[in-house]
Amino acid sequence: MALKVCKFGGTSMADGNVMTRVRGIILSDPERRYIVVSAPGKRYGDDIKVTDILYACFDAVQREGRCRSEFSRIRSRFTGIVRELGIDFDIETLLDETEAEIDGECSVDFTASRGEYLCARIMASLLGAEFVDAKDVIFFNDAGRLDTEKTYRTLSERVDGLGLVVIPGFYGTGADGRIRTFSRGGSDISGAVVAGAVNASLYENWTDVSGFYACDPKIVNSPKGISVMSYKELRELSYMGANVLHSDSIFPVRRANIPIQIKNTFRPEDAGTSIVPTSHFTPTGNIVTGIAGHRNFTVIYIEKSHMNAEIGFVRKVLTVLEKFGISIEHIPSGIDTMSVVMESSQVSGYRLREVLDGISEEVHPDFLRVTDNVALVATVGHGMSSSVGTSARLFKALAEAGINIKMIDQGSSEMNIIVGVGNDDCERCIAAIYHEFF
Ligand code: ASP
Repeated sequence: MALKVCKFGGTSMADGNVMTRVRGIILSDPERRYIVVSAPGKRYGDDIKVTDILYACFDAVQREGRCRSEFSRIRSRFTGIVRELGIDFDIETLLDETEAEIDGECSVDFTASRGEYLCARIMASLLGAEFVDAKDVIFFNDAGRLDTEKTYRTLSERVDGLGLVVIPGFYGTGADGRIRTFSRGGSDISGAVVAGAVNASLYENWTDVSGFYACDPKIVNSPKGISVMSYKELRELSYMGANVLHSDSIFPVRRANIPIQIKNTFRPEDAGTSIVPTSHFTPTGNIVTGIAGHRNFTVIYIEKSHMNAEIGFVRKVLTVLEKFGISIEHIPSGIDTMSVVMESSQVSGYRLREVLDGISEEVHPDFLRVTDNVALVATVGHGMSSSVGTSARLFKALAEAGINIKMIDQGSSEMNIIVGVGNDDCERCIAAIYHEFF
């Protein structure tokens, strides 16, 4: 039988009613066997996610040695859920233990992980399923990266022969034996890891939207939905700000060519978006699949005559950045010019001065300029590589909208054109490109 791994996000776990709906979704398909859950998210606009309250609990432990008053909000959230579900589950004892552990552990990752842990315990009880703790099956190595081999081996052995299984998302065990979390939104990665380990036929990711849109619906009213896209397109779009799925979720499923299906818990009848291996993907006829962007990049522009003839020039510049531990997004270049684009948070304050001094000493440029408050907007689609005039249309649309382009970078795979514009132009830029191609 085909096996599906289903990950349910925070809004799908927000209260007892939604969890009951999720139960119905899971039980309606016997192929849905491995369930990964997030911590309860927001129930309404200005509600607070359980994970955010847990970070506040950790701050309280650091300040006062205990989290009693902050933890009362966690308490009322989870007791409310169990009451709404009407299940026979001793949440009070579990909450007492958890509070004591948070006070005793004094670890930010342990504290943050407890939302997923408690939620998975409740969900397992609701489903009559086996609870498998992520700490026993997901492992990180010394460098803080997933230890894929150990994780896959342990996880597949642990779930072998079990029926329905619930696993908390977001965390595992670090090389030091302590709980360690992925970055925020990391339950998507946990779901993908479980899918990879059990060699699932499908990774279903259940959220509160019916898949990806060609651009952010907050920018363009009712944009076109994306019914199918490739792993590569997903990676480009989610990295650039389309935040339906964590951008690192792609790696575990890509190894085994497992397709991902984005589904809406609140509209399960909607088809959602299928994300398929790039080699199995045939463009749908649209030149552009999607447009996404995000703000706050800094561009260091370097000019030097005969740069092209100076062997090692680029390496020297990059070595300076490496020395400062700065990761780079793009390196557009000309004959005598190159630019390096990075997130502004990496070069804030005096650090930028030090980086510029380092570059000057290393390569003695004729001219060095810094532009900040830059937003990067990516236009992505496999269809672009085979269609003449795409860039011309894109730049004309931006010119007509009066948007000044500060930087252009076309990925070598020709499925991606990135433009740098002022932060304030980010949304207008996305809208102008959308209206040109859709
Ligand atoms: N609960 C964690 C967060 O809010 C992880 C997740 O939901 O994926 O980031």
